[in-house]
Amino acid sequence: MARDPGTSDYSDPRPKEKCGIIGCTGTSPVTSDLYYGLRILQHRGQESAGLAVFDGGLKAKRGMGLVHEVFTKEDLLGLRGNSGIGHVRYSTTGSSVLDNAQPIVVNTSYGEIALAHNGDIANANEIREELSKKGWAFMTTSDSEVIVRLLANEIANTGDVKRALREFTNRLVGAYSLALMINDTVYAIRDPLAIRPLCVGEGNGRMMISSESVVFDALGFKFIRDLKPGEIVELRADGFESTRLPHPNHTAHCMFEWVYFARPDSVLDDRLVYDARVKIGEQLAREYPITADIIVPVPESGRAQAQGYAQASGLPVVEGLIKNRYIERTFIMPDQQEREIGVMLKLNPIRSAVKNKRIVLIDDSIVRGTTIRKIVQILRLAGAREIHVRIGCPPIRFPCYLGIDMKTRNQFIANEKTVPEIADFINADSLGYLSLRGLISALKHSRDDVCLGCLTGEYPVPIPGEKLRREKPLEMFAESAGGSPSRKKTKTAA
Ligand code: SF4
Repeated sequence: MARDPGTSDYSDPRPKEKCGIIGCTGTSPVTSDLYYGLRILQHRGQESAGLAVFDGGLKAKRGMGLVHEVFTKEDLLGLRGNSGIGHVRYSTTGSSVLDNAQPIVVNTSYGEIALAHNGDIANANEIREELSKKGWAFMTTSDSEVIVRLLANEIANTGDVKRALREFTNRLVGAYSLALMINDTVYAIRDPLAIRPLCVGEGNGRMMISSESVVFDALGFKFIRDLKPGEIVELRADGFESTRLPHPNHTAHCMFEWVYFARPDSVLDDRLVYDARVKIGEQLAREYPITADIIVPVPESGRAQAQGYAQASGLPVVEGLIKNRYIERTFIMPDQQEREIGVMLKLNPIRSAVKNKRIVLIDDSIVRGTTIRKIVQILRLAGAREIHVRIGCPPIRFPCYLGIDMKTRNQFIANEKTVPEIADFINADSLGYLSLRGLISALKHSRDDVCLGCLTGEYPVPIPGEKLRREKPLEMFAESAGGSPSRKKTKTAA
């Protein structure tokens, strides 16, 4: 289910993307491009937003809320500069949330550094301890502050920014797409496995880096390309300079960007997100055919997959669920009852469209199972005859340590129940999860080039207490995906 601004995070237990980043350099103020770019990246983080620009000195503002809530017109007029970076973040609740908002700004002997980070650093605690012993003081609990202090330490040691940029990353284990401003110069870095997205574009005499290419479309910029694994670029008004960090001969792009997080109109690493989702839907139809009357997508995230299922099955797509886009975010207690009320507030059925119908209900993924259970209930109350749930991602069972907010195993229903038990729990007539093989074929990247850690429990970088990825047959991870859909015994699903 989509998590667009204006909906309650607590009513949707779906994992949250932690960040979106942007950076721009030109010969005139870039504030407006950064601001609107951040608004376009709002789906990547809705808890806080921030901008830092250089105008003879570094000026920054960060705040809690959506981008348009954080910045007033006066703020933007006061943040004029020919280079700058920006950040949107989803963060967990707690007293220090604003402290963890970005860009993080630090003063060093070399000058001012601002950092916007998307990802997670697996060895952040270790580096924090080392730097603390050297006398560096930390103001936040964020791993992003560890990155910026590590860089500041390296610049202090070498006195050479370019060398420091190449060398400080040797210590980082994990996922990092970075926008950095060091005095008036904007740099972007993508980790050597290219786990989180980052791309570069140009327009209006400016160069820009962004988490997603959709920003360039909306601002009238030209998309140039994705940053390569381990690439460092230095933005100039008329171009960029590029160097590479050492990198392996494979990548580990996060599969969840295509499945759920990124906007469908973004191109990530040569694959349009919409096309990947349509292909996922086609694959679902092949893996789990069913006799039914209509396909109903869960809005918005099931739409493209539903289109693909329709193309492969010949069934019509019907908008049987209408989403209220204008429910305000709330900060109510995240208990079960509140979540279920949240689903009802957000989704309403078209009774005449679903009554007496055998429905294929399509969504992108299942975490706890409570949201899809409520949606099935809404459709049943509206008179649906049969509901066959199809999910465009294999069962999620393992935490993400690489930039997505799902940190514990016990939040995943697939760890507690078998697929038939999940079908019972959500009260579906049948349930089918996309197979791992089907997912990989839809992404059009080789299995070696995508991260599947939250599906297989094997990660592309060393994570303490977890398994490092070794290539095994995909079927070894597919005990509950692939083959026939799980069906309830009490009802027929021809
Ligand atoms: S563990 Fe899952 S969510 Fe995290 S980077 Fe890998 S594929 Fe993406």
